[in-house]
Amino acid sequence: MDERYSRQILFDGIGKAGQEKLSNSRVLIFGCGALGASHAETLARAGIGFLRIVDRDFVEFTNLQRQTLFSEKDARERLPKVIAAKNRLKEINSEIEIEAIVADVNHSNIENLSAGCDLVLDGTDNFQTRYLINDACVKSKKTWIYGAAVSSYGATMTIIPNQTPCLRCVFEELPPVGSAPTCETAGVIQPIISVVSAFQTTEALKVLTRNTKALHKSLMQFDVWQNDWRKIKLHQPNLDCKTCGQRNFEFLEAESAEFSAVLCGRNAVQIAPSKPANLDLTDLAKKLENLGKVKQNEYLLRLSVDGYELTVFRDARAIVSGTDDVATARSVYAKFVGV
Ligand SMILES: [Zn+2]
Repeated sequence: MDERYSRQILFDGIGKAGQEKLSNSRVLIFGCGALGASHAETLARAGIGFLRIVDRDFVEFTNLQRQTLFSEKDARERLPKVIAAKNRLKEINSEIEIEAIVADVNHSNIENLSAGCDLVLDGTDNFQTRYLINDACVKSKKTWIYGAAVSSYGATMTIIPNQTPCLRCVFEELPPVGSAPTCETAGVIQPIISVVSAFQTTEALKVLTRNTKALHKSLMQFDVWQNDWRKIKLHQPNLDCKTCGQRNFEFLEAESAEFSAVLCGRNAVQIAPSKPANLDLTDLAKKLENLGKVKQNEYLLRLSVDGYELTVFRDARAIVSGTDDVATARSVYAKFVGV
């Protein structure tokens, strides 16, 4: 073990004792797209003893430009991302334990999925899931590291419940449905993934080796194209925060802000936000026009893309045709409408 990790052990912040701590650590990564796969590779190479990776998607050719763990073969075989990731990670480090879980994380399974892990890393692509992670981690007093990247922009912060502000202290409410850009609508370049993942995984190494003084204690924002880097210092948690101040974990409740998804007819799933929204369909049509065939009238917008037909209504409800799998429909909705 010492030889494999010798350069890391030589590093002052880690040393032999730190390496021992890493090999006894259990880390959970939600999402195995560009960010999640990058976190997984770094932490597997660093010798984290146990990695649990959770994701609901399959590898596609459009992923290969930035999701560095995956190959053309994985995309041809449409392997679940966590399975393709585990196969590759085993080749990189056969000495650690990797648990790959194909699942759509939601209020009913998040607490079980988090059980037994010391630290949670965000590799998801939507705010809905991040609020859920925030609720679950604050409730169980588990440190988690938020990270997001789209276009050439990214952000990250490390959340230690009761010690630092939580995600909801900083972003009080979910952005309106359809307002946030996604990698599908705004594109993304790989270097911003590397930057955000580098900060998240470095923070993870600090947390796991108990180097808490070295944490950056800020909301970090980067734009690798505009050459803009910001570090917004974070202070105390907000006492009025619904999550960490009032301990009201509404995203963990079944009837909360979570999207409901129900099978409707043959090969179609309806997705509906619990709070009605008012979508600007013309604006959404503009974002989607280069991705597939878009038709729009006063009441609805229809997008044909990747073998699915997505019909979006002004109240943000949508019907995804071409699948009878709820997780797939939620994923299509998150990518093309954005949550
Ligand atoms: Zn808070």
